[in-house]
Amino acid sequence: MDVSVKNLRKEFDRYPALHDVSLDIRSGELIALLGPSGSGKTTLLRLIAGLEQPTLGSIHFGDEDASHKTVQERNIGFVFQHYALFRHMTVADNIAFGLTVRPRGERPSKAEIRRRASELLEMVQLSGLEKRYPNQLSGGQRQRVALARAMAIEPRVLLLDEPFGALDAKVRKELRRWLREFHDRTGHTTVFVTHDQEEALELADRVVVMSQGKIEQVGSSDDVYDRPNSPFVFSFIGDSASVPVSIVNGSVRFRGNEIGVATRQGDIASGEATLFFRPQDVTLVTDPSAPALEGRVVTSRRLAGTRIADLDIGGADEPLHVEIEVPLDAQAANGTSIRFRPLRFKLFAK
Ligand code: ATP
Repeated sequence: MDVSVKNLRKEFDRYPALHDVSLDIRSGELIALLGPSGSGKTTLLRLIAGLEQPTLGSIHFGDEDASHKTVQERNIGFVFQHYALFRHMTVADNIAFGLTVRPRGERPSKAEIRRRASELLEMVQLSGLEKRYPNQLSGGQRQRVALARAMAIEPRVLLLDEPFGALDAKVRKELRRWLREFHDRTGHTTVFVTHDQEEALELADRVVVMSQGKIEQVGSSDDVYDRPNSPFVFSFIGDSASVPVSIVNGSVRFRGNEIGVATRQGDIASGEATLFFRPQDVTLVTDPSAPALEGRVVTSRRLAGTRIADLDIGGADEPLHVEIEVPLDAQAANGTSIRFRPLRFKLFAK
């Protein structure tokens, strides 16, 4: 089911938590809402679910305007971070719950409900555990029961709010892989909220990056990592360094000196800008007469196959730290001077 959100605004006591948000989610997509705390991810998810009413704007499921429909009418599956399984019910009864509370005419027979619950248990790979109670399950197993329960009502859309937030790193990783496979098998349109960029990049077909109640960028993992369209997205996703520069007739200067970086088509030709690059996207410059950025090593640390050097490129009066990757055999003792040039970079006008 396609989900389309148009010009959504949500105010809480006149404070806008979402400003004019529009988003088209295609049927069968796995979408991540990614952003820092307070950026409006949960608010957007709750509006799609019908748990909150928009101040302005509309929500469409396929051709149908669902803006004024109740949660039940929207037929949405929901999983929250603190998986609220019913403690006094077995796994099978938890999963069947949504079906047993259906109005009389729509309620499947008992045998049918049992059949569906066991099918779902198989789908989340928990067959054999139907008689257990939630406190007899691991965190990851509970989370999968919560997903099966959300799926039982055959929702048109599955909404997951930080579904793996409360779990330890190893279980999170396993469940991530499992959710991706599960999604590929079942093909439900799924929207999940996370503030973990790795989770978003690894799992989602498209990532919606949010900041301060607005969508900053929507794109594939490659789009948001390799082609960030704003300083916020560049610095929020992955490691990055930023340097204030001035551009004079296409040549990029840091504190008056050329640094060996030229603007390209589409970049601003003159004026103040910020140069962004990733630590691994630099090359060391050995020719002392070639233009480059230059800094002193403040500290460095070894990663598996390389070294990360923290350089001060500003000097004592106005220090400016950037981190770059250097080969293991490069001279990078503290205090050493290193000259380098970004190979891949992006310039944003100030
Ligand atoms: P987190 O990652 O911390 O869950 P989030 O990106 O999901 O954050 P939201 O929970 O959507 O952010 O909140 C967005 C903004 O709206 C925040 O400033 C929050 O304080 C505010 N807000 C959310 N719900 C309410 C509410 N019920 N009443 C008042 N303000 C709210």
